[in-house]
Amino acid sequence: MEAMVCQGCGATIQTSEPDKPGYTPESAIEKEPLLCQRCFRLKHYNDIQDVSMTDDDFLSMVSQIRNKKGMVVHLVDIFDVDGTIIKSLPRIVGDKPVILAANKMDLLPKSTNRNKLTKWLRTAAKEAGVSVEAVYLISSVKGHGMSQLTEAIEDYRKGEDVYIVGTTNVGKSTFINKLIQRTTGTSNAITTSYFPGTTLGFIEIPLDDNNALIDTPGIVNRQQMAHYVSDSDLKVITPKKEVKPRVYQLNNEQSLYFGGLARLDFVKGERQSFVCYFSNELTIHRTKLDKADKLFEEHRGGLLSPPGPESMEKTPQLIAHAFRLEAEKTDIVFPGLGWVTVPGGDITVTAHSPKGVQVSLRKSFT
Ligand code: GDP
Repeated sequence: MEAMVCQGCGATIQTSEPDKPGYTPESAIEKEPLLCQRCFRLKHYNDIQDVSMTDDDFLSMVSQIRNKKGMVVHLVDIFDVDGTIIKSLPRIVGDKPVILAANKMDLLPKSTNRNKLTKWLRTAAKEAGVSVEAVYLISSVKGHGMSQLTEAIEDYRKGEDVYIVGTTNVGKSTFINKLIQRTTGTSNAITTSYFPGTTLGFIEIPLDDNNALIDTPGIVNRQQMAHYVSDSDLKVITPKKEVKPRVYQLNNEQSLYFGGLARLDFVKGERQSFVCYFSNELTIHRTKLDKADKLFEEHRGGLLSPPGPESMEKTPQLIAHAFRLEAEKTDIVFPGLGWVTVPGGDITVTAHSPKGVQVSLRKSFT
């Protein structure tokens, strides 16, 4: 039997994995034209859904983009830069110019110093091996910063195609939907096409007669916290609104629990403030360091949740990393969850995070 392909994007039609390319509900197989759910939604609702990809898809994507002309917009989630910056970006896109667009700015406190943040993002990108032409701070949901970014795209693309690249969940679909609204203004201007010989199904949105905005599939970063928690837990840890910093004055030998998903021990140093940036819905518990283990054993899944009782199995055990901080304001980052800002000054902390999610330090941008 010949494999059926989507007439929009060329992906092989399948009915079993909704978040993979080519997914179509059984009930829609007989319809004409045959479209995967993603193309169907795009065509009828102007709504783009993200798809995740396998390693083979990833390599195939690399070989398709690398040697083409054009520019790249790399979207990252400002609340999880470590988890969403793509270290292999140069390998995927070659030497095209890259604009870094930091999305979900609406989640950061309004008092955030934007210049400092922009500078910090440049450095963070550089350290990840990604050299960027420019950094833009945006909110796809609210539309903030979108007009400056679209102007920059027009400048940098020099009449060529634009590739939108990001990990899953950075808000790529929301971003593209906003761009479509801005650039076309009509609901029916979208066409879908595909690069022949692939199962990937890139979606192209025409920019002019010859060039397009190309939505690449979301790249999966296995270090992202999202892969280690249940959907209901993810709802709790993902901030939906501006994050309100929570301040704890800690003495040494005190600990903080962030739900039951992370923990920070203040091991050694002078009393100081720990400013916590997490989803407002995530409960933070303060305890004495010598009571912390017992609290965890007795209350994980209850007082210390998420993980909730039903997702405790899914969440890996916490692994401890010790850090010695210098005399500089530093963020201790729990990727995908949030961060804690400490003034520093020769202190020692131990950060505990689920195995596979690596805690890191960065110079504070607040
Ligand atoms: P994709 O997987 O990269 O396509 O991401 P989506 O567009 O599906 O967005 C993932 C989640 O992030 C959704 O819950 C969106 O509502 C949310 N999101 C996207 N853009 C923004 C933004 O600018 N601000 C906030 N607060 N949330 C956003």
